[in-house]
Amino acid sequence: MTNTAQIGLIGLGTMGAMLALNIAEKGFPIAVWNRTTAVTHGFKAEAGALAPMITATESLAELVAAITPPRAIVLMVPAGQAVDDMIADLTPLLSAQDLIIDAGNALFHDTNRRAAAAAKGGPRFLGIGVSGGEEGARHGPAIMGGGDKADWDRVAPVLNAIAAQYKGEPCAEYMGPAGAGHFVKAVHNGIEYADMQMIAEVYGVMRDGLGMQAAEIATVLRGWNAGVLQSYLIEISAEVAAATDSHSGKPMLDMILDRAGQKGTGRWTVIEAQHLAATIPAIEAAVMARNLSSRLEERLAGEALFGAAPQPTTSVTLAQLEQAMIAGKILCYAQGFALISAAAKAFDWPMPLPDIARVWREGCIIRSSMLNDMATALSDDAARNLMFAPFFADHLKASHGDLRAVVAAAALAGLPVPALASGLAWFDMMRTGRSTANMIQAQRDFFGAHGFERVDGLADKHGPWAGHGL
Ligand code: NDP
Repeated sequence: MTNTAQIGLIGLGTMGAMLALNIAEKGFPIAVWNRTTAVTHGFKAEAGALAPMITATESLAELVAAITPPRAIVLMVPAGQAVDDMIADLTPLLSAQDLIIDAGNALFHDTNRRAAAAAKGGPRFLGIGVSGGEEGARHGPAIMGGGDKADWDRVAPVLNAIAAQYKGEPCAEYMGPAGAGHFVKAVHNGIEYADMQMIAEVYGVMRDGLGMQAAEIATVLRGWNAGVLQSYLIEISAEVAAATDSHSGKPMLDMILDRAGQKGTGRWTVIEAQHLAATIPAIEAAVMARNLSSRLEERLAGEALFGAAPQPTTSVTLAQLEQAMIAGKILCYAQGFALISAAAKAFDWPMPLPDIARVWREGCIIRSSMLNDMATALSDDAARNLMFAPFFADHLKASHGDLRAVVAAAALAGLPVPALASGLAWFDMMRTGRSTANMIQAQRDFFGAHGFERVDGLADKHGPWAGHGL
């Protein structure tokens, strides 16, 4: 085996196969290995004109031998144990200058651990988040990198070439040390959960509240996609709403069981937000909704006991729904970016917020025209919460009334809109100068003598109930 490949890739599943073809297409000879050898040969056999760029290997030793040193090897295997196993198997075959790149959806704590182990010797290690699904991997994903900057720079020519391009700018960026790239990818997925959930909620208001058919909903979503809400997720939601089931002839959406799957990245985002005391209620609501969706039997029992909740409503217009979606989307992204800011402070990571918005403009699942405006707003002032940036504050001033109207009408009709409602509650808390936490402080002082600060600045830190606690 001659070492002519410029890069290696392990794991020719959905993502790895497409990423390998993308790399080959951009002119980088690549060596590939897959746990199941038949898959490796099948992959090369089906690579068509790209086959000469691909070296199919049957063992890790063969893979390593096929790559020009210092080597770079991409792992595209399931997150968790499989990544640790592959690192353990590769390490004896590699030199300290070689580089392992985990491109799966790793938990960023694992990436931190692997980066720390690599820093003690052995091959170098990068953790990169890749977004865009199968199509993105093949034709240009968004890439969020973490690790040593020198290692990133080494493979940046390949990553920039395979990444999605936004007006000629590659959607690939270095986010910071160790797990920074995988952290940003997790938040991306958290935002994705919330964006999808909000679309599902407005779909629910149209279907159950306004009694609209899937095809009519498709037309509305197509219209929204031509405006402020232009995004990949609205676009594909319109497409799925328009599709017909070939078996029953009914709308495809009506034939799909309402039980949603997940791989856990949304949950990780929520858990990290709690650790960092960051407030991301719209994302939390979206994760909750996915969890609850899987409890179909309980939901059916609830419907039998309490009566079906969704009732028709006449108090919501389609124009209000669009504005509610705009407000909800801004609030959800503001929460996501604030979480990244909190992580940057806590972990002392650079986390270039405007660059993150730029990277997400193309290739990834949450790509949307609004992200370009977010990049501009974050470039003006990255430390300011996005909802306070003049462009988005103006949008919110114009749309929060409609968000309120939709949430209120949905509540009265029993239409669940948890992500929109929690986005609204967050908005209201974020603009309440005098909150109700004085009551919380009083309670805490009563039962636990925790003390409080006074509005008049006097030093007396306890209420007249001192000594009454349990
Ligand atoms: P697939 O299930 O399609 O493919 C998994 C690949 O990993 C296969 O090639 C499989 O080999 C290999 N593999 C599985 N277990 C092991 C193991 N223990 N040791 C070595 N190889 C193993 O997964 P995806 O391509 O969808 O996902 C890969 C990674 O990319 C995951 O971390 C995922 O979260 C992430 N990701 C996925 C996206 C998607 O849209 N699918 C989007 C972005 C990231 P074999 O053929 O032998 O089974």
